[in-house]
Amino acid sequence: MNIGIIGLGLIGGSLGLDLRSLGADSAENATPEGYRKPGRVLGVSRRQSTCDRAVALGAVDEADADLSLMAQADLIFICTPLSAIAPTVEQLVDHLKPNAILTDVGSVKTPVVRTLSPLWPNFVGGHPMAGTAESGIEAAQFHLFAGRPYVVTPTETTPPAAVREVVAIAESLEAKVYSCPPEAHDRAVAWISHLPVMVSAGLIASVAGETDPEVLDLAHKLASSGFRDTSRVGGGNPELGVMMAKYNREAVVRSLHTYRQTLDEIADAVVREDWGELERYLTDTQKARSQFNL
Ligand code: NAP
Repeated sequence: MNIGIIGLGLIGGSLGLDLRSLGADSAENATPEGYRKPGRVLGVSRRQSTCDRAVALGAVDEADADLSLMAQADLIFICTPLSAIAPTVEQLVDHLKPNAILTDVGSVKTPVVRTLSPLWPNFVGGHPMAGTAESGIEAAQFHLFAGRPYVVTPTETTPPAAVREVVAIAESLEAKVYSCPPEAHDRAVAWISHLPVMVSAGLIASVAGETDPEVLDLAHKLASSGFRDTSRVGGGNPELGVMMAKYNREAVVRSLHTYRQTLDEIADAVVREDWGELERYLTDTQKARSQFNL
């Protein structure tokens, strides 16, 4: 099975590195279970220089800036920024084999699934939940997805065979596969991925707003592991943060409002010097944290 990857950046490049290494040692392209190992890995990216670099790094066998290369692919991953997914697929459909399976890796699912399903019925929404602070083809790495969640978001019209194929590939990357409706995915990631970016950005902005230069200078010098952990996601790629808020607006707004209320409750307890209430609160959050798969 030939794999296509459109958008050769951190996620697309990392997929290519793993999929090429999975297919490379296989002379026979089909397993007894029916799962077809990757054959050639073909890439398309916006810039020809990125395509050339992806080939040089071994992320793809062949790459071009022209979407017509995807006519040879059986399963295609759309790995462009969220804003480019729908426009890319609108141009891509004329080039595809009739039975080609299309999947994406976008961090928000509802708008992508709603737009793409009518354009290509053999489409399966997907989201590998792995990343680094870096972007672009130079940031691509092997085993990025191993041990990480990979969410698929089929709807009642998604062909089950296409879902099975995408799940099999995700499992071959050693990812932990979960399936849920696109809307549930978006509400969950608003809590554990998108809200943390906004909260962490708010934290950095609050500290940076300290008006006493001596205190601010000390804060810069004294910052240690606590600030490193809590500021990490707020100091990442701004474009990605804007995309999260723009495409998952409703769920992000809801989570931000809840968070603001929660902060007010904490501030009230401190203002009232109600240390008992604050301790109960922190005991509850200490217990609640253990429920997360961290
Ligand atoms: P990235 O490193 O910036 O890679 C995206 C690549 O897409 C760029 O390097 C760019 O390559 C190419 N591109 C941009 N517009 C294009 C177009 N119209 N047609 C073809 N290629 C185009 O971004 P990423 O982190 O891999 O994110 C890609 C997708 O993965 C996004 O949808 C994001 O939501 C999702 N995702 C990201 C993460 C994360 O943590 N980063 C995690 C999970 C999912 P050139 O311009 O150089 O050709």
